[in-house]
Amino acid sequence: MDWNLRHCSRHGHATYAPDEPALRERLHVTTPAGEAWRCLRCGDFAVGGPAGSGPADAAPEVPRGRLLRDRVIMRLLACERAFKALLLLLLGVGILRFRGNKDAIQSAWDADFPLLRPFADQIGWNIDGSFITRWAQDALGLSATALAWIAVGVFAYSALQATEAVGLWMVKRWGEYFAVVATSVFLPLEIHELMNKVTVLRVLALAVNIAAVVWLLWSKRLFGLRGGGTAYHAEHAEESLLTVERAAARV
Ligand SMILES: [Zn+2]
Repeated sequence: MDWNLRHCSRHGHATYAPDEPALRERLHVTTPAGEAWRCLRCGDFAVGGPAGSGPADAAPEVPRGRLLRDRVIMRLLACERAFKALLLLLLGVGILRFRGNKDAIQSAWDADFPLLRPFADQIGWNIDGSFITRWAQDALGLSATALAWIAVGVFAYSALQATEAVGLWMVKRWGEYFAVVATSVFLPLEIHELMNKVTVLRVLALAVNIAAVVWLLWSKRLFGLRGGGTAYHAEHAEESLLTVERAAARV
């Protein structure tokens, strides 16, 4: 799969007219259809004016090839984090609403629960031992203060996920670090949860998070891995078509 062509066909070519004449010459041709500029992503000449111009040093960084593929992976991860942030936000709002209406829910529970018992006996369902009953009684037994603190915790976790989503989506280095640290902090909790009860969703969530941490650490050279930030930026420059052309034009 050619990530460069795929990206260009969706978002248009990334052309740039550098001020340096020698470099400008290498990226520019005149065709019967008019002037054409070389795309810094796919390398093809695109007819029409350049999308940007200025000194070569000020040219926007155009991710290509593997870096472009990495960006797609990071954005998928960002979507997953954003989805989680939204679910947690809704959960927090739900807890606060439950807290506000707890007395009404409690009296409804007290009035209706005994009515369910004969029916449950009929079908042989031990309603008092059911986890739903225990869960509901636990929730109703919580104080307003405890519920408020649970909501605060849920909102904080939601904000954490949202920050991760923003950092990953924007492909920022702080976003990569933030995602690795924030995800690693919760790994022991996820493993603990899994040891309590194995569900497909929990196994999947843990697998995604471990894969994300390992991939980010390795591919983004975080915490000095594989040469760290210096090697990371050198790799970016090496992948850049402008760097190649500059070397050729000796600008
Ligand atoms: Zn292109």
